[in-house]
Amino acid sequence: MPPVTRRRTVTAVIGGVPVGSSHPIVVQSMTNTDTADVDATVRQVAALARAGSELVRVTVNNDAAAAVVPGIVEGLDRIGVAVPVIGDFHYNGHLLLARHLACARALAKYRINPGNVGGKRHDENFRAIIEIALAHDKPVRIGVNWGSLDQSLLTEMMDANAHAAAPLEARDVTMRAMVESALRSAALAESVGMPHDRIVLSAKVSGVQDLVDVYRMLAACGDYPLHLGLTEAGLGAKGIIASTAGLSILLQEGIGDTIRVSLTPAPGGDRTEEVQVAQQVLQSLGLRSFAPQVTSCPGCGRTTSTFFQEMAQQIQDYLREQMPIWRQERPGVEEMKVAVMGCVVNGPGESRHANIGISLPGTFEEPKAPVFVDGRLAVTLKGDGIVPEFLAILDRYVASRYAAAP
Ligand code: SF4
Repeated sequence: MPPVTRRRTVTAVIGGVPVGSSHPIVVQSMTNTDTADVDATVRQVAALARAGSELVRVTVNNDAAAAVVPGIVEGLDRIGVAVPVIGDFHYNGHLLLARHLACARALAKYRINPGNVGGKRHDENFRAIIEIALAHDKPVRIGVNWGSLDQSLLTEMMDANAHAAAPLEARDVTMRAMVESALRSAALAESVGMPHDRIVLSAKVSGVQDLVDVYRMLAACGDYPLHLGLTEAGLGAKGIIASTAGLSILLQEGIGDTIRVSLTPAPGGDRTEEVQVAQQVLQSLGLRSFAPQVTSCPGCGRTTSTFFQEMAQQIQDYLREQMPIWRQERPGVEEMKVAVMGCVVNGPGESRHANIGISLPGTFEEPKAPVFVDGRLAVTLKGDGIVPEFLAILDRYVASRYAAAP
């Protein structure tokens, strides 16, 4: 398969993180704490960053939130978390940023939704935000969302379409209005003095086919870096699958410079799941590597016990636990492939293709588990200690194969 060719974009630097051009596609996320709750927000931003989020967005929706943003950034600094924090503004961003200059300074980027900048005073308010961004050397994301699309622009385009010789479907006009909203706002920002390479665009929708269409149009219309994501993706498997489907098509076409997976967490659920999914999408497409990958077969009637599933899970969990340490100490380990196979049918073959693999005994097979290292049979494990013995072999392999960072 030929490698994905990234669409040519300019590079916007966000708090030191380059986004666009040939730079790695950046994973980002957003908190769901009350931003004014400094401790909770620092904790969650830190958790997202430690999970691998390279940019984290927080909502800045009122004076209380804006007032504590500098404290949040300082709090992260104190615990050694150096992730750029982005402010998400709707309706009152021009007022909050003007009233809270320390917040304007502390943020690494401002996200502006052109549909939520104020009806009649839209351009004036938008300009005010851009001027503050310029005064503080900050990039902006112009983030259009179809749930809050600029209604006057949509009406204007719907009217023009109604009088066209070959009118488009209302859905197509809406997609075009989203692109137009992003581009007009970018042009307005540049007319105020915002450099071209400090603007990131997004146009988020909640349907996969709409996402593909709107981003293809957006990508064809300019070279701004694009923030890609399905908005309101939903809960659990539905949200993960819908996001993966939409993102994969576009990323494979070279569209998208930074991604977010907008999952609705289960009550009390882990917010970092959205980071893990975004990383897995990029790694599955071969665009970036974040963590060793476990290849495990689905199991079938040849594996009647749950031992095989439990072992695959334990190994996956172990790799995830080790990664924060290995990432620092063992560069390159994120490329490692581990195979955990249920029986002799595909076990040895798949294990030989991995860096390290184990083929467990299926039902009625002799109770032994050959371990393959770099394609060769290294040892055959037996008895009750297969999992810890395999993990010990894994540890030794990592130590010998991936040199300690200087
Ligand atoms: S490797 Fe064996 S246990 Fe796994 S799916 Fe194939 S036949 Fe079934």
